[in-house]
Amino acid sequence: MNKLEATVKLKCPRCHEGELFENKSFFSWRKLSKMYTNCSICGLKYERESGFFYGAMYISSIINMVFFVAATVAYYVYFDVRVDWRIYIWSYVGFTVLITPVLYRLSRSIWLEIFNDYKPQKK
Ligand SMILES: [Zn+2]
Repeated sequence: MNKLEATVKLKCPRCHEGELFENKSFFSWRKLSKMYTNCSICGLKYERESGFFYGAMYISSIINMVFFVAATVAYYVYFDVRVDWRIYIWSYVGFTVLITPVLYRLSRSIWLEIFNDYKPQKK
């Protein structure tokens, strides 16, 4: 498993085997943010200091801004004349709400990958 695959699959950044989140479902709002404190395979402590995951908010914001710019360009190029801008804005707000669970977890996974190197476990 390479770094990108481990990030997308929400695996431990050090061993690429342990899970980051306790629940795999994106639709369980209560358990959405429940992370393991340590990797079950290599023992890596995920939250290395309190407030560590605040940085993941920047990752999430950057991804959301990229989506917004792409959607806005697509709107002006393809739908500008036919679709009212208010419908566009509310559609985008709906899209943002829908992708929030995915973005929340993915941004934490990316943030962890930035600060941890891959060290395969000996078996
Ligand atoms: Zn691990």
